[in-house]
Amino acid sequence: MNTMNNMNNYGLDIWSNNNFIIEDGQIKLNYKSMPSILQITEDIRSSDVKGPILLRFPHLIKKQIKTLYSYFDKAITKNSYKGKFHAVFPLKVNQFPHAVEAITSQGTDFNYGLEAGSKAELILAMSKTPSGAHITVNGFKDKEMMTLGFMAAHSGHDITITIEGLGELETIIEVANECNLKVPNIGIRVRLHSAGSGTWAKSGGMDAKFGLTSTEIIEAVTLLRNEDMLDNLTMIHFHIGSQMSDIAPLKRALREAGNIYAELKKMGTSSLNSINIGGGLAVEYDQHTHARSRNYSIDEFSSSVVFLIGEIMNAKNVSHPDIFTESGRFIVASHAVLITPVLELFTQDYHERLLSFKPVNPPLLEELIYLDKQLNNANCVEYLHDALDHMESLLTLFDLGYIDLQDRSNAEILVHNIMKKALYLNTTYSTNELAQLQVRLQERYLINASIFQSLPDYWGLNQHFPVMPLHHLNSTPFRAASLWDITCDSDGEIGFDPEKPLYLHDINLDEEEYYLGFFNVGAYQETLGMNHNLFTHPNEYTVYIDDTGYKVTNGVESKNILDILASIGYDKSEILNKLKTDLSKSEFSTEKEKDDTLAKLNTFLKQNGYLRTTN
Ligand SMILES: *Cc1c(COP(=O)(O)O)cnc(C)c1O
Repeated sequence: MNTMNNMNNYGLDIWSNNNFIIEDGQIKLNYKSMPSILQITEDIRSSDVKGPILLRFPHLIKKQIKTLYSYFDKAITKNSYKGKFHAVFPLKVNQFPHAVEAITSQGTDFNYGLEAGSKAELILAMSKTPSGAHITVNGFKDKEMMTLGFMAAHSGHDITITIEGLGELETIIEVANECNLKVPNIGIRVRLHSAGSGTWAKSGGMDAKFGLTSTEIIEAVTLLRNEDMLDNLTMIHFHIGSQMSDIAPLKRALREAGNIYAELKKMGTSSLNSINIGGGLAVEYDQHTHARSRNYSIDEFSSSVVFLIGEIMNAKNVSHPDIFTESGRFIVASHAVLITPVLELFTQDYHERLLSFKPVNPPLLEELIYLDKQLNNANCVEYLHDALDHMESLLTLFDLGYIDLQDRSNAEILVHNIMKKALYLNTTYSTNELAQLQVRLQERYLINASIFQSLPDYWGLNQHFPVMPLHHLNSTPFRAASLWDITCDSDGEIGFDPEKPLYLHDINLDEEEYYLGFFNVGAYQETLGMNHNLFTHPNEYTVYIDDTGYKVTNGVESKNILDILASIGYDKSEILNKLKTDLSKSEFSTEKEKDDTLAKLNTFLKQNGYLRTTN
């Protein structure tokens, strides 16, 4: 069927940005030695690692940083733009140590800096920003946080604190008057009247949570001038929201912010030299052509920004400012892949091995046996119709008491089989009927992972993430699939959506493993993930690929069960002692059996909470 054929590569050409390719039936990294993800996974699992695995690929972060800088540099050259381009990484998008390590190390050639939105992130930025790179600070700040900003400036960091309101400017002035530390650069977040687009658009617009109105901006300049601090004002900033689907609102925001910048220059803000356009650059998450998530490319994005700012400055005769971006999602989304083993396929209860025929079967059942055996490409649609018809009659016969439960069970298994085979064999007809059959026949794949922990934006915002098997990619998947996670919460499910169908393979898990990969999960998912049912972060590894192979480093195992309990405030030894005492008090046939049981308990508590015995 057409829909299926479209899914043969799982939309790789739409979402993967050439980062991955399919070869020999497996998905591989499209880089240097091109290892397959299955091989890396099996390599890691060979040392008894169980449960979900998060792989980080630093070369994909480098690729994004390089792309961002090169497109802006290209636009600057093309437009004879006089300002420079700078970028910082907003830590809120991924603060995990091995992600930040990859970001800062891959970004050194570009002088790539960090953005902080809280005290903890500012401390992280102060300790991890490579020397000479920028730090920008956004979000609500108290006097302590401002003082930290002064300390950062005094330690030699190139830091800009963006004020979100006049109160924050007063706090900066207070700190400046109270201590002799170097004053950081000051930025002003402007409250734009043009709003953003996309799910996260609340960051822009008149009713936005952040930013100064034009009246407040004039007041801020007066205040700074009176305090003799106007030279510290270097930047204006806006951020219209994450995952911008449409470029039009950004253009409106740029016109507005550009004019504010030019007006401020005319008011004599001689040190003002930068416009910070925030983040929002979108990532393609969709696997189906009709559902693409953005209407622009990085080329159009960078060209529009540079062209529009240049045009406004030229018209107002103001020199071109430096341009800052704080794109986060665009930089890190692609670097992480979540791998989940499949534990179970639920409709195995219709398995052929459960057929149990009698020496003499009802004639209609004999008919079904015949249809099942003789089904082929040419007759599959016709035989399918016959089978469905027979099923109706058999059910009626059952209601009237003419066939027994075993006959009915045999009939259900056979018809299920015929439907499955017909869907698989049929390559010529794409009918509504078959599409509906597919939904009815959907298979539930139980994955060893928690959606709440690893794909929280699916749960919270219905954000789709590209998903596909790591192997079997040279055979056609024909099972309409829904995915269930191992939390005991019914929201832990990614249902089958006929509009954006997912097809997977029919695998006998007793004979082989089956792994699914979720892609583009490197932005926001890790810190937003929650320990619902006490499932913690997956096992995590950083993979460096070179010309001859790959190196797996920075292993962080999922928390073990006792540590999970300790992390929410329980006393580990109290729990351990209670369990041991209770067990010791009970009867065992031998002393050895008791010791063995206690040893087993010890082992279990030191393993992570994901399922082990099956996959
Ligand atoms: C969240 C945020 C960003 C990052 O946005 P992305 O959509 O991830 O690029 C940048 N700047 C500010 C001020 C933010 O709040």
